[in-house]
Amino acid sequence: MNFIPVNTPLLDGNEEKYLLECIRTGWISSEGPFIKQFEEKFADYIGRKEGIAVANGSGALDIAVQALRIGPGDEVIMPTFTIISPAQSVVRAGAMPVLVDSDPVTWNMDVTRIEEKITSKTKAILIVHIYGLPVDMDPVLELCKKNKLLLIEDAAEMHGQTYKGKKCGSFGDISTFSFYPNKHITTGEGGMVMVDDPILAERCRKLRNLAFEPSGRRFIHYELGWNYRMTNMQAALGLAQLERIDEHIIKKREIGRAYEVGLKGIKGFQLPLRKTEFAENIHWVFGLVAETPILCENVVNELNVAAIATRPFFWCMHEQPVFKNMGMFIGERYPIAEKLSRNGFYLPSGLGLSKESSEYIISKLNELSSC
Ligand SMILES: *Cc1c(COP(=O)(O)O)cnc(C)c1O
Repeated sequence: MNFIPVNTPLLDGNEEKYLLECIRTGWISSEGPFIKQFEEKFADYIGRKEGIAVANGSGALDIAVQALRIGPGDEVIMPTFTIISPAQSVVRAGAMPVLVDSDPVTWNMDVTRIEEKITSKTKAILIVHIYGLPVDMDPVLELCKKNKLLLIEDAAEMHGQTYKGKKCGSFGDISTFSFYPNKHITTGEGGMVMVDDPILAERCRKLRNLAFEPSGRRFIHYELGWNYRMTNMQAALGLAQLERIDEHIIKKREIGRAYEVGLKGIKGFQLPLRKTEFAENIHWVFGLVAETPILCENVVNELNVAAIATRPFFWCMHEQPVFKNMGMFIGERYPIAEKLSRNGFYLPSGLGLSKESSEYIISKLNELSSC
């Protein structure tokens, strides 16, 4: 058996055709026609008025934070258990992330612990949907309304997932997506900022493009922006991927289901929830949480010997050396998130995973847990 990587993308639709079109027509930069098509079609799919295609999901978050004018003196409430992207956007803007522990069952931010973190400095709540199940949005929306807080929604792992029937990515004042190759649809590298307000949309477009003023003399700037433009070639991939998104979601759920059934009898590990009262797991990745860090380490090593790649779970924001060295989060503890980060890992979960590979992984894991 060849080594099974954690992710292989699926690129067997119109990707090649649309990419060739870019090369044949010479439209390779961000000025090409696929950008607008991809933005409009993805915004339609998610149910937003505007989509602003960008270079990656982390950049989408930088734009979101800056567009909402979050800066020095502001606090942003967010989960400690997440990828660093949303936290780094907040810190780079000069604002302060205020962290919340995780729910032990869904692995998302524990929404019952948000209210106690709200102060007079709180400007926004930044939610991150983790691994396949959405955050319980109703209590978050209520807190935002009651306290006049902005909402940023990092939906980078949630293409097509819904909360009570409404698409993830449609909840935030600004919501963001990533199209990295392990996401449900990919552009190689890429992301999208989603908004409804046309003025906010124009501001995001401006920040994506070095904060050039949309009118007035070119090369005169009143604000610092970023170069986060997406290329027409990336949008070509995105358009082809979007044509297949429903199939991709079905495939992801099938991969999750196969693991769930195959690993039912496994001892010492917590599996992802199949569903909650508001959503069915979309299985961005299939994660396992071991009872102890040692068990996690041993199984990961044994799987590696068996040519099966795994990835550890996210590492908590309050335990990041980069933030500790900046004097942040000193003495803070979030026991549930700490356990997830130490005991959790995920299995190969990409769209290109073959049935044969998935069966091999399941049989190996069962073998390991019985000895
Ligand atoms: C993948 C991911 C990102 C970052 O996206 P990039 O395109 O890799 O910059 C941000 N947030 C979450 C939750 C992600 O899963």
